[in-house]
Amino acid sequence: MRTPNKRFLGGKAGVINCDLGMSKLFDIELERLTGRPSYSGAVRGAAGGQGGTFFLETFGCQMNDHDSEKVAGVLLARGYRQVETPEAASLILYNTCSIREKAAQKVFSRLGEYREKQSEGKIIGVLGCVAQQEGEDIFKRAPWVSLVCGSASYSKLPEMISQLEAGNPRVIGLDTDTDETFETPVTRRDNPWRAYLTIIEGCDKACSYCVVPFTRGPERSRASDSILREVRELGELGYSEVQLLGQTVNSYADPTSRKMRFSELLLAVADVQGIRRVRFTTSHPSDFTLDIVEAIERQPKICDHVHLPVQSGSTRVLRAMQRTYSREEYLEKIAMMRGAKRPVAITTDIIVGFPGETESDFDETISLLQEVQYTGLFAFKYSPRPNTPSLSMKDAIPEEEKGRRLAVVQEKQREIQAAGNAELAGKTFEVLVSGKSRRENQWTGYTTSHRMINFASQESELLGTYVQVRITGAGPNSLVGEHAA
Ligand code: SAM
Ligand code: SF4
Repeated sequence: MRTPNKRFLGGKAGVINCDLGMSKLFDIELERLTGRPSYSGAVRGAAGGQGGTFFLETFGCQMNDHDSEKVAGVLLARGYRQVETPEAASLILYNTCSIREKAAQKVFSRLGEYREKQSEGKIIGVLGCVAQQEGEDIFKRAPWVSLVCGSASYSKLPEMISQLEAGNPRVIGLDTDTDETFETPVTRRDNPWRAYLTIIEGCDKACSYCVVPFTRGPERSRASDSILREVRELGELGYSEVQLLGQTVNSYADPTSRKMRFSELLLAVADVQGIRRVRFTTSHPSDFTLDIVEAIERQPKICDHVHLPVQSGSTRVLRAMQRTYSREEYLEKIAMMRGAKRPVAITTDIIVGFPGETESDFDETISLLQEVQYTGLFAFKYSPRPNTPSLSMKDAIPEEEKGRRLAVVQEKQREIQAAGNAELAGKTFEVLVSGKSRRENQWTGYTTSHRMINFASQESELLGTYVQVRITGAGPNSLVGEHAA
């Protein structure tokens, strides 16, 4: 993958001669690609959709956000311009999520709103997990849609857009048998300081509740040399934080002869000039090994935060979920991290109300929260999904009871976070400043352990910089501080 970078600067002033291997060329404002106002250059790409405009809305996880950044890059490289509203666009795209039923419903209600748009000559497309799951049925349910492209088929997207541009009224891409990863010549990143980078796509695990193996296809790892080349380019462009992404990021298996382990890759990314922080998500407990903890201990640039979804504290439920570890095995991984020389913040995902989850299974989840003392968690009510083994499981838990259990988990975690955050008062942390409040002299930033801090500073411009912040107050969900140096 290639992102434009300063090395390509040359020829015409302010134009980046990025060789995209395409014949016709045009200019893209580099600011639009990087989100960095300080870069006023342009990148030259092919001119397929010159004059066209696109609106892209994204639902779902960080991987979807990053897929959208790549889709935007593909379109910008073809001469499209990104616009803020569907009204202003000739191409309207929805990058969708189907992990829970509610997310999928939202997509169809949004599509309904755009029924009339097709008659105005606009092209409407559905990308992502709902596209993969519903396939051609989307054309039946919403005949005004012209493009359906599942998340496992993104590498075909440029070809599909060419077909649309050639006047083809309907194009569809639903292959899941690909061994390719989605790499683009240019990526339009939304955040000017932190760059997402997918290192592994799809999933080879088979959790009984999960649609991801169907919607994103089998696991494919990206070549380590290609990852490191892109990280070097990101460093040159001024990004200082890189977040490596994958559904099971630590299952990374380098397809090159170098056969880099995930921990080696983390260390190599941290060594790249300009990179100050390396994050990674989501880690699967079964593939979480000691060498990853050792890499975190050894290299302070690797963030001291691990998101390690447990889903349930009951081994019986974990077996039914096909999670490939028991409560005890999961707790061994936690003990391994707690033994690290550097404290590691641990967060998790919990599903409540999985079919057959008894009151005593649920109590085991609550006792696990008490034992691990997570710094944060995402909790979800179990949502039955098409094509998943758990769909036909007996002993469904009533919605009302799921809601009650969800509230109990959230309250327990609130208590844990309130106590954990209170202990941070008076301590000083390095923060990457990522937001400026409308309130004067108020800023927001993240610590390496991914704690968000709202803090006061008299400085006039801090965005994108690293500052020391002293904690002056703490609630269960937030930390308050002041600029310390
Ligand atoms: N691959 C990651 C893992 O295994 O931990 C997470 C993938 S998924 C995008 C994010 C979270 O959504 C999962 O950890 C799980 O808690 C939740 N999730 C997935 N399927 C679900 C379902 N059918 N109902 C409720 N929550 C679900
Ligand atoms: Fe889904 Fe399990 Fe794969 Fe995570 S590991 S994406 S929950 S199948």
